[in-house]
Amino acid sequence: MPERIFNFSPGPATLPPAVLQEAAADIVNFKNSGIGLIELSHRSKAFMAVAEETEALIRELMGIPNNYKVLFLQGGASSQFFMVPMNLLGSGQKATYLNTGVWAKKAIKEAKLFGQVEVAYSSEEITYKRVPRDDEYTVSADSQYLYFVTNNTIYGTQFPTMPAKDIMLIADMSSDILSRPVDVSKFGLIFAGAQKNMGPAGVTVAIVREDLLDRVGDKVPTMLKYKTHADKDSMFNTPPCFSLYCVGLVMRWLKQMGGAAAIEKINREKAAPLYEAIDSLALYRGHAEKESRSLMNVTFNLPTPELEAQFIREAGAIGLDGLKGHRSVGGCRASIYNAFPKEGVEKLVAFMADFAKKNG
Ligand SMILES: *Cc1c(COP(=O)(O)O)cnc(C)c1O
Repeated sequence: MPERIFNFSPGPATLPPAVLQEAAADIVNFKNSGIGLIELSHRSKAFMAVAEETEALIRELMGIPNNYKVLFLQGGASSQFFMVPMNLLGSGQKATYLNTGVWAKKAIKEAKLFGQVEVAYSSEEITYKRVPRDDEYTVSADSQYLYFVTNNTIYGTQFPTMPAKDIMLIADMSSDILSRPVDVSKFGLIFAGAQKNMGPAGVTVAIVREDLLDRVGDKVPTMLKYKTHADKDSMFNTPPCFSLYCVGLVMRWLKQMGGAAAIEKINREKAAPLYEAIDSLALYRGHAEKESRSLMNVTFNLPTPELEAQFIREAGAIGLDGLKGHRSVGGCRASIYNAFPKEGVEKLVAFMADFAKKNG
C-alpha cells in the first residue's frame, strides 16, 4: 500500500485501508475463484452470499427489527428525496419537514410534487447553523411523517438526539448512519447514500418498515417502488454489485471495531479536540452552535477568506487534504467519519495551533 495522507473529504470519504486492500485483491480474483469480483453474476451463489452477509451485518449493527426490509438501491441519496413522498404520500396528504440545510431543502422541493408539505422549522435565515430542539416546532396531527436530516454534512450540525414526537420519523442519515446507536423502531424509513459512512458511491441503503410498502399508488413506475425491490431482495435488476460488496467489508470492519456504540465513543474522542481547538484559539470560529455540533463534519472559519485559503493550502502541504468548506458556505470543514483515523485529527489539531501562533 502506498503511503496515505489524511483525507478529510466529505464524501466519497476515507475508508479503512484493510478494506481497500481486500477489495483490490478481490476485484482481480474473488476469493481465489478465478473470477474477478466485478465479473461475477449478481445471481451467482458467490455474490448472493455477499449480499446476504452485507444485509445481515447491517441488521445486526443497527439492531433492525424483523418487520423492516433493508434495500440496496441506486440513484444516490438524492433519489430518495422523491422516492419517499412518491411511495408514502397520497395526493392531498400532508408531511412535515425540518429545513436544516441544503439536503433537507432539496427533499422539501421534491415532496411538494406529491403532497402537502409543512415546513415546521427552518434555520435557513441563520445559514443553517443549528438544528431545532423538540420544543421549537410542532407537527400537525394529520401529518403522515416527520422528515429530517440527522447530520447536515455541509453546515456541520447534527441532531444530538432523535426528535421525540408522536409521529413516524423518516430520516436522511447519509452522513452519520452507523456513527452511533439509533432506535430504528421509531422510524418508518431510513436511507443513506453509502459514500460517507458505509463504503463507496453507487449504492443507497434504504431501511423500510414493511407495512409501508403497500402504500404506493399504481401509477408509480416499477423501479421506483420500494415494494419492487423489497419483494426481490434488491435483485429485481442488477444491483450495484461492487459498492454493495464494499459496504459488506466496511460492516465487517465496523463489527470488529465493536459496533455502533463503540464507534460513537471513538467519534466523540475524535471530534472533541477539534472543537476544543476552535473554542480556545482566537483565530478560529465554529460555524455550528454548540448544542448542534456534528461529530462527523467539523466546520469553522478564519477571519478572512485569504487566511482560510492559506490554511487549506498549508494543511494540504503536510498531508491534511480535503479541508475546504462546501462552496455554498466557504470556510473550512474537517469530515471525520467512522473510518477517519484519530492520528489525522491529532495532526490537524497540532497544525491549527501552529498556524494560529504564526498568523494570530
Ligand atoms: C451527500 C448527501 C446527500 C446526497 O447524496 P447523493 O448520493 O450524492 O445523492 C444527501 N443527503 C445528505 C445528508 C448528504 O450528506
